[in-house]
Amino acid sequence: METLSTIAALRSVVGDERRVCRSVGLVPTMGAFHDGHLSLMRRAKDENDVAVVTLFVNPTQFNDPEDFKKYPRDASRDNALAKDAGVDIIFTPDPAEMYRPGYDTTVTAGAIAERLEGRSRPGHFAGVATVVAKLLNIVQADRAYFGEKDWQQLQVIKRITADLDIPTEIRSHPTVREADGLAMSSRNVRLSTEERRAATVVSSALLSVKTMADAGTTDATGLAAALNQAIAREPLARIDYAVVVDPSTMADIITIDGGAIAAVAVYFGSVRLIDNMRLR
Ligand code: AMP
Repeated sequence: METLSTIAALRSVVGDERRVCRSVGLVPTMGAFHDGHLSLMRRAKDENDVAVVTLFVNPTQFNDPEDFKKYPRDASRDNALAKDAGVDIIFTPDPAEMYRPGYDTTVTAGAIAERLEGRSRPGHFAGVATVVAKLLNIVQADRAYFGEKDWQQLQVIKRITADLDIPTEIRSHPTVREADGLAMSSRNVRLSTEERRAATVVSSALLSVKTMADAGTTDATGLAAALNQAIAREPLARIDYAVVVDPSTMADIITIDGGAIAAVAVYFGSVRLIDNMRLR
């Protein structure tokens, strides 16, 4: 596995691969790897000749400076895990490499980026959309892989790649969970033992609403109320939002007639967790 930290070096190495017609799969990450990240990497390697991982804790997508400061970082562990997963190239730029003096351009995704996470974390999706657009332009991969765990982020990325005619195909990957249902997240390590136990309420509440929808309930408002009630039964949970919305635009819906997604953001202490499940 090659470790590169400049855009020029990455472009040169990926360019050499493309010239000999080798396909390239990209997995953008912020590190602190868990099985969710590793399953994206293994898939990128399975479906492409060359797997490129980017590891960049992007300062512009953190609306809370404390969250940025506390974001877990462990480069040597991450390098070893990526290598084991079959990654060929890992790109670890400094912020100064990604945002050069005079940098002054932002990509924003419109209405979809203003809902849910966008409302709770102002500026977050502008940071995400801008850095992902830059990474897609830098790597020029055939395919890029994103987790359904960050469902709204996935929709934002699909929106910007379609709207800006970015030729990389966006592929999504199902959420990888712990044995008790908790969605894997780099932030889980910050939960206390009590909070970690309590956090299972998130996936169990989502699952109970999914079961209701599968059984034929189409009243989105009623499902959202049931979701809120199920989470609120856990005293350590503080709900930011718990909603049932359109799966592409994240807009409110009253009744499920096509698909829907149940999406939540819940605090346990100072740790904010997000999760979602498709309802059909
Ligand atoms: P992050 O490092 O948190 O920015 O995540 C990098 C990529 O991994 C994003 O596309 C995430 O959606 C994806 N990801 C994070 N957690 C999971 C998970 N539990 N299952 C599947 N994909 C995930």
